[in-house]
Amino acid sequence: MDLSAYLAAKLQAQLLAPGSHFSVYALAAGFLLGFSYLAWSRKRRRGHVGLKPLARAFLSRRLLTHRSTRADILYFFVNVFVTVFLIGWACLTSVEVVDAVQDALTGAFGARTATAAPEWAARGLVTLVVFLAMEFGYWLDHYLKHRIPVLWETHKTHHTAERLTPFTVWRVHPLDSLLFSNIVALSVGLALGATRYALGGTPESFSVAGTNILVAAFFYTFANLQHSEVWLPLRGLPGRLLMSPAHHQLHHSINPAHYNSNLGNCLALFDWLFGTLILPERESPRLTFGVLEKEADPHALTELFLAPFGNVVRALAPARGARQAATPPMNSAAPSSVETSA
Ligand SMILES: [Zn+2]
Ligand SMILES: [Zn+2]
Repeated sequence: MDLSAYLAAKLQAQLLAPGSHFSVYALAAGFLLGFSYLAWSRKRRRGHVGLKPLARAFLSRRLLTHRSTRADILYFFVNVFVTVFLIGWACLTSVEVVDAVQDALTGAFGARTATAAPEWAARGLVTLVVFLAMEFGYWLDHYLKHRIPVLWETHKTHHTAERLTPFTVWRVHPLDSLLFSNIVALSVGLALGATRYALGGTPESFSVAGTNILVAAFFYTFANLQHSEVWLPLRGLPGRLLMSPAHHQLHHSINPAHYNSNLGNCLALFDWLFGTLILPERESPRLTFGVLEKEADPHALTELFLAPFGNVVRALAPARGARQAATPPMNSAAPSSVETSA
């Protein structure tokens, strides 16, 4: 395949595949949801809906031309064309783990006969187990990156965004993606391998173009609004179960009261269980996004892409590591009020 065909195929896979979180369909559905919610909440508060202020929430010139947004768009291309390729061969896959788990369980306890449960029930169970395992893997990976200084150096790139747009989801350093992929593959592989062994077969999840249907439901609702400046909060029990856009916007806040909170992806459930949940207020608290640590230039590609490699090496060096442990970076070990606020 020549280079232009390779680049076109990569773009197409992200923008046109119905199972992609960044597909034009998922982006349009998120936009419609956000726009409708803003219109409804303005009508409720002010009695009228002005189209201009609503449009500004998504398309203001200040948002679209900010250096942070431009860096996110650049990083989108770096990740789509380069990182996805690197991650492809550098990661453990859940298939390998599933096979290893099934072989180990069969070796220890013998082969099992297939369950008598109907196929839809077995597939429904697998769909739920895989979804929960992905969510737990996501939460665990994210928790470790906010708590361990050397891992924070890989994740900080994402938090240097000062404006949030759907492109911000691509502002992720390759080392961050690498660790994430391995932890989620391990989590999903262990859970799916054990479930398939218990069911005595190989039932698949219900899916949309290869994406677990519960994850796809999130892609078509909240996913692209999490990185936006549309304050759409879930509160009460729904806010303890699901990660609304406002939950993730609090996660990006530079307010120390919000550090290390709301670490889940689709679900707030694991944050609730492990004491890292902050429920959003009904009204936006006017958040500022970014990190307090001063980078040379938080939006330069060299700083975003190259600096984390050096920072990781320095954090791993024993003498430097000891100093870092004494002066932890901004979000990794700062005093947190989250344990009491869930
Ligand atoms: Zn984070
Ligand atoms: Zn984010």
